[in-house]
Amino acid sequence: MSKIYDVVILGAGPAGLAAGLYAGRSRLSTLIVEKGKDGGQIAITDEIENYPGQTVEGESGPSLIERMTQQCEKFGVERVSDVINDVVLEGDVKKLISAKGEYCAKTVIIATGAFSRPIGCKNEKEFMGKGVSYCATCDANFFEDFEVYVVGGGDSAVEEAMYLTKFARKVTVIHRRDELRAAKSIQEKAFKNDKLFFMWDSVVEEVNGDGILSSMTVKNVKTGELTTIEADEDDGMFGVFGFIGTLPNSKIFEGKGVELDERGYIPTDADMHTNIPGVFAAGDIRVKSLRQVVTAAADGAIAATQCEKYIGEME
Ligand SMILES: Cc1cc2nc3c(=O)[nH]c(=O)nc-3n(C[C@H](O)[C@H](O)[C@H](O)COP(=O)(O)OP(=O)(O)OC[C@H]3O[C@@H](n4cnc5c(N)ncnc54)[C@H](O)[C@@H]3O)c2cc1C
Repeated sequence: MSKIYDVVILGAGPAGLAAGLYAGRSRLSTLIVEKGKDGGQIAITDEIENYPGQTVEGESGPSLIERMTQQCEKFGVERVSDVINDVVLEGDVKKLISAKGEYCAKTVIIATGAFSRPIGCKNEKEFMGKGVSYCATCDANFFEDFEVYVVGGGDSAVEEAMYLTKFARKVTVIHRRDELRAAKSIQEKAFKNDKLFFMWDSVVEEVNGDGILSSMTVKNVKTGELTTIEADEDDGMFGVFGFIGTLPNSKIFEGKGVELDERGYIPTDADMHTNIPGVFAAGDIRVKSLRQVVTAAADGAIAATQCEKYIGEME
């Protein structure tokens, strides 16, 4: 059988890395399994203003996460790059299974976070990476001096729209309501930005083009009126960025004994216990009211200290 770790943490977003830091400092043998880049969702944002103590000019998601990773590894946390596609969570030895093999542990912290919710329009999949994106930091520079549309009206949508104005000639926020949901301080900045425009009460119905996005149909939800937006003739293309919330990364836990709510999030108590002894959940994957870096990191810290307690009680 493979090595049995004290803790295996699934996901290296802010929750997983904070859990790793606390578990490592507690001298628990700890492994973090991550399928992609460290940082999860925060790795795709350019600006973080609301993480306490984050006043470093120009701090971005990736730079903050780089320091979190270094801090975590300093305490001896092992790392592996792998995609977990099955789990066995009941019993004293938990198993996380991938195509490469399995990872065993006395405790598991599920920190698999969430992913961007699709815009939900016709042909969206076909134009992903060909004009449709969910990551301004990754794709903004493809739209240098082009027109860009942002779908959404919350904090992320408006902040990312402002970021996109550094690249695009013009950025239009398409929002299904007649006012933004973003925090007032964010709205104030947005309304002062002269490259930022708003299309209220509207949803994107369909995106089109010949291999690259060059037209879309937008519907006014109040009047039902359909408007076709065509790319400027000289440009031949434009971008559409979707920021309309997230969905949980919890498919692999379906039918595996961990309780999920009707949307797929994992309910926990205040100490991050799931319904299975020795299995904890932290960060955006949890049922919670505020999904942010600060709450994800706090969850991770609590989950790791509870792993230590659980292992202590096992022995
Ligand atoms: C565009 C955008 C802007 C944002 N801006 C801010 C902001 O300014 N301030 C703020 O506080 N918050 C912001 N947020 C929210 C913040 O990013 C999240 O709350 C935070 O990242 C949640 O951390 P997490 O560790 O719970 O999950 P995630 O960040 O989602 O990380 C989960 C990790 O688990 C990995 N994973 C999932 N499934 C598997 C599997 N089966 N096998 C292996 N690995 C797996 C994923 O690859 C991912 O790296 C923003 C989010 C977005 C999308």
